[in-house]
Amino acid sequence: MVQALGFVGLGIMGQAMAKNLYGDEPLTVYNRTRERTRALQEMGAMVVDTPRQAASASQICFIMVSNDEALRQVILGEDGVLAGMSQGSIVVDHSTVSPAITKELGGLAKTRGVFWCDAPVTGGDVGAQNATLTVMAGGEALAIERIGPYVARMSQRLVHVGALGQGQTMKLVSNLIGGLNLMAAAEGLSLGLAAGLSVEALEAVLPNGTAASFELQKILDRHRSQDFAPGFSVENRYKDLDLAVELARQLGQLVPLGETALDVFGRHRARGYSKLDESSYLKGWER
Ligand code: NAP
Repeated sequence: MVQALGFVGLGIMGQAMAKNLYGDEPLTVYNRTRERTRALQEMGAMVVDTPRQAASASQICFIMVSNDEALRQVILGEDGVLAGMSQGSIVVDHSTVSPAITKELGGLAKTRGVFWCDAPVTGGDVGAQNATLTVMAGGEALAIERIGPYVARMSQRLVHVGALGQGQTMKLVSNLIGGLNLMAAAEGLSLGLAAGLSVEALEAVLPNGTAASFELQKILDRHRSQDFAPGFSVENRYKDLDLAVELARQLGQLVPLGETALDVFGRHRARGYSKLDESSYLKGWER
């Protein structure tokens, strides 16, 4: 029975997930930028100064940071999570990172008697707020069984997809498809508007036929609101396309659409849009 939980990384996703996670057990949280811990502190969570302190106060420590570099930063070193975890405890990494770093850090954890579950999520910022995420987990079945009741507070589905690293592999596949959908939706909407179709007609037809997708709906919603505040940032979308293409290269697998998407979306990122929502890709078509 777990007596205490930790959470490291309270960005857009982590903050919403930690709020849903917080239940009867004490929750200890860490975020690099202290300001972002305030809401959890007001709910009663303990705020600490280092990832190590969050880890040493918990038997299961959840992580939700940006990328490989950030993960390395919070896991390793004398103030890192691994320095604080006790034998038999579990690191649950919800970040989207490379399968390679997962195997490296998960392997290191194992040498210290600590379990590692790579457990990236899909469902967006709204899914994090509403606890409707789907979680794809890699790692040992025993550990995934133990985290199940806690992950259930933040999600509607937890699928054990394979060994350590396979959760991240699944996430890269999911986001390659999502990224291509997003870019196709923006391209199609822009073509329709340029050809004189009304927004109303496009909204009435596209989501109700074979063009329908999560990303199409997002593009239509953001086009209407012209609100490009980040739910999922351009930076993160680019990072995930890059990771998927890199995985394909390692396997000698062809991903021609992924290669093109990485190049085209990279140019959008380079125009200064990196902190906006991924749907700001639409703006590129207006130029
Ligand atoms: P975010 O709002 O930018 O949050 C990133 C978090 O990582 C923040 O807590 C940030 O701390 C921390 N961080 C970044 N670099 C760090 C470093 N060097 N050392 C310590 N902490 C560091 O991003 P997000 O949207 O929550 O995304 C987090 C992860 O979830 C990403 O891997 C993303 O791909 C994935 N994801 C996002 C979505 C989505 O819809 N947003 C959906 C599924 C998966 P500070 O507050 O100090 O910057």
